Amino acid sequence: MSKRYEALRQHLRELAALNSALGLLGWDQETMMPPRAAAARADELSLLSRLAHERATAPELGELLSDCEADEALNTDAATAANLREIRHDYDKARKLPTEFVAEFSQTTSHALEAWKAARSDSDFSTFRPWLEKLLGLARRKAEYFGVPEGGELYDALLDEFEPGMTADVVESTFAPLREALVPLIDAIGRKPEPDDGPCKVEVPIETQKAFNREILELIGFDLEAGRLDVSTHPFSSGIAPGDTRITSRYTPAGFAEALSSTMHEAGHGMYEQGLPKSEHWGEPLGESLGLGIHESQSRMWENQVGRSREFWTWLEPRLAAATGDAFAAYDAEALYRAANIVRPNLIRVESDEATYNLHVMLRFDLERAMLRGDLAVADLPGAWDERIENDLGLDVPDAARGCLQDIHWSMGAIGYFPTYTLGTLYSAQFWDAILVDLPDLPERIGRGEFAELLGWLRSRIHQRGRQLPAEALCVELTGRPLDHRPFMDYLKTKLGGIYGLEG
Ligand code: ZN
Repeated sequence: MSKRYEALRQHLRELAALNSALGLLGWDQETMMPPRAAAARADELSLLSRLAHERATAPELGELLSDCEADEALNTDAATAANLREIRHDYDKARKLPTEFVAEFSQTTSHALEAWKAARSDSDFSTFRPWLEKLLGLARRKAEYFGVPEGGELYDALLDEFEPGMTADVVESTFAPLREALVPLIDAIGRKPEPDDGPCKVEVPIETQKAFNREILELIGFDLEAGRLDVSTHPFSSGIAPGDTRITSRYTPAGFAEALSSTMHEAGHGMYEQGLPKSEHWGEPLGESLGLGIHESQSRMWENQVGRSREFWTWLEPRLAAATGDAFAAYDAEALYRAANIVRPNLIRVESDEATYNLHVMLRFDLERAMLRGDLAVADLPGAWDERIENDLGLDVPDAARGCLQDIHWSMGAIGYFPTYTLGTLYSAQFWDAILVDLPDLPERIGRGEFAELLGWLRSRIHQRGRQLPAEALCVELTGRPLDHRPFMDYLKTKLGGIYGLEG
């Protein structure tokens, strides 16, 4: 191995150590940090962001990279060539942002996050509004630094950070037929009697839930020797370092099902992080996850294809009885399964069922795109939000906390992030079909609590590959075709059709 390539990898490992410290401070801010530490934390994050950006854009890194690109021996190895291609992508992209801007962005988002937390708990949009205006200004500047692709729009430059290569136009043309197929399905379900929602109302003490979630997490394959499960307002996962993947969930006594599905979701993200070849390739693209769409495909798969399947509930039922006594004694596995799949419009995205969830994502995509374009003023956001919820879901938004203040993303300056949730949902269904061809007895295995074959499939086909292939190419390789909405709609129609007794 060339000395220059070794030096390049060493540079990236040190950059990864800085990013890892940033990740840990961010995790702490969400889980443990006392509120009065917010100002000091903002300074720490801003300084570390500046140092990380300086290291990511250092001329020395550029020279090492150019030398390696010119080294033919290195490029004969496909994985190394992919590594260099992606390092170049990241380097050129980072060089477009001035370091001062990166520090300012970090400083502002730390404060905005605290402002959002307060605004959300008071349900007062007016105190968050000036922050959102500031964040949109920063997002526009960021998009301009990155540069708008030919024939594209500002939004594309931001989306590319979360889902490389994706554009707003492609998202729009993926979402439109999905919406067309979803709305009649949701309507048809709305005309049918709802399964008994009794299991959703059972109260379970929070300490019991925490222990149960931890037990399930370990049984499905999350390595608690290399990770943690904690509590935060907004559940998330963070791959902090090799051997350190942290996920969170949130609990209320009557929210047993929500907490479990949150844990399953974040476990999917966490197991992806744990499956990346980080020990060998720490800090290199070969050891990193692909875009957020693929990340979300992993979380949605464990949450939905696994965690909302009949077989999963068959396996879970005796465990549930052992953990919660007779709390669920009135319900058999079939009743639990049906309750876990109730379709009922919900004001809250993260508590939504698999069908209406995507309408939430489409709403956010449309509104943030309109704000970025200047077609929607920030002051008009609550009104536009509430109107759309009424139109799409038939619900009245009672307050901003359950309306446009519910999600953390905008407060972190993450505009262009939401579409990845639905892209991931579509990937998960398309991948699931391919998995069932390879592992036709997977449902029966899930019914016996055997998750290792599924995890093994995901490890070898997706996790261990790092960023060797772009998401679109990976999708074609695994499923034989590009991403589309039909596998998801087929999956949904089959499952919900069975539960609700829909025709054909
Ligand atoms: Zn997720």
